[in-house]
Amino acid sequence: MTKKILIIGAGLGGLTAAGCLLKAGFDVEVYEQAPKLAEVGAGIQMSANAMHVLNHLGIGDKISSQSVRPAAYVFRLHDTGEIVDTFSLSEEHLKMHKAPYNQAHRADLHRFLSECVEGLKENCIRLNKKVIQFKETAREATVLFEDGTNASGDILVGADGVKSIIRDQMFGAIPATYTGDSAWRITVPREDLPENFMDHVMSVWMGPGKHAVTYWIKGGELLNFVGCVETPVAPDESWTAKFSWDKLQSDFNGWHPDIQRIINLADKDECYRWALYNRPVVQQWSTDRVTILGDAAHSTLPYLAQGAAMAIEDGAVLARALLQSGSIPDGLELYQQNRYERTKKVVETSNMNRRIFHLNSAAEIREHFSNRNEGDDRNGWLYSYNPLTVDLV
Ligand SMILES: Cc1cc2nc3c(=O)[nH]c(=O)nc-3n(C[C@H](O)[C@H](O)[C@H](O)COP(=O)(O)OP(=O)(O)OC[C@H]3O[C@@H](n4cnc5c(N)ncnc54)[C@H](O)[C@@H]3O)c2cc1C
Repeated sequence: MTKKILIIGAGLGGLTAAGCLLKAGFDVEVYEQAPKLAEVGAGIQMSANAMHVLNHLGIGDKISSQSVRPAAYVFRLHDTGEIVDTFSLSEEHLKMHKAPYNQAHRADLHRFLSECVEGLKENCIRLNKKVIQFKETAREATVLFEDGTNASGDILVGADGVKSIIRDQMFGAIPATYTGDSAWRITVPREDLPENFMDHVMSVWMGPGKHAVTYWIKGGELLNFVGCVETPVAPDESWTAKFSWDKLQSDFNGWHPDIQRIINLADKDECYRWALYNRPVVQQWSTDRVTILGDAAHSTLPYLAQGAAMAIEDGAVLARALLQSGSIPDGLELYQQNRYERTKKVVETSNMNRRIFHLNSAAEIREHFSNRNEGDDRNGWLYSYNPLTVDLV
């Protein structure tokens, strides 16, 4: 009999898992607490390791058509813009890894994924369904919703993000902790910027205690800016809070004129800052019928641009592990066994990047990059991974 899998959360991770599991022949139901499907109005980078899965789901070309393929990944000093390191993306990335490096709009990616899932199974995604608890027996897993209803299946997958209640119930409610950094996110239309403003490259601008990331999305129609700042937050502050434009401006005072120009063009009434939260990485994240994926399992600072990519890889590996194994517990064990080391390395490398990107002096930054070949390193272990073909052992 076809196994039924309940997925909690219709974010990028939950939807990708749903697509991969449906394609593998499982029956899937996705439950999302929000009343409608939506994503943050910001950019997202999708390297080959994630694009393999999106190609497998048949949405790679759609994403590529709405994206920008950056020529290079560029590391710069925050004030002069001096390039301290760079490696090629675009054609070289495609040739090396057989899938492109895309810079997309999150809402486009999310929409393509939800359309894909609904195309594979109508009414697969159920909205307004907030899970408050689950129960696991030897025969099934059951979730209880806030509205008093419930649903049962053979397997339960918590794709419910960094605040995951599925994870809470499995391992105890260790609260997410503030990483010390907050991220401003804005986009600026191309027509508001001078002609030939910034090449189609992905830039990290590094300065004392903060860094900024700039890249083009929407086929070059929008410039995406993320400004990550070491900053204390009030304990009662919302994770996503609106702040005055003056605060954004003062955070990047003295930075390169291109950065100042982007900030000057931000919608002054719509300046939001995300407090970045983390939870400890757990080694065992499955029981006999329940598992977690994406930020629920391994939330990370976004300083390697791989949080969603890891969630996307998780979905592909989960589907393959269940197909490959003789029983559900073995499949869930095989899945997490093959995801733990890689996702832990992403979390650790992102933490290391926080230290490097926020070094105090140009000399320290130059010194660091003179001893490290960022392109070789990432091409070697990060972008070269193909979740559809990697041996699962
Ligand atoms: C500034 C910034 C930039 C980033 N840039 C990149 C990038 O360039 N590339 C990249 O790969 N990653 C990036 N990331 C990371 C990426 O955004 C996340 O890792 C990814 O979105 C996690 O997806 P997810 O599906 O695991 O969780 P989420 O996106 O958090 O989705 C969880 C879903 O579960 C739902 N949910 C939660 N609780 C319940 C419940 N009880 N019942 C029902 N539904 C529930 C939520 O409503 C939500 O829809 C970035 C992150 C930040 C903050």
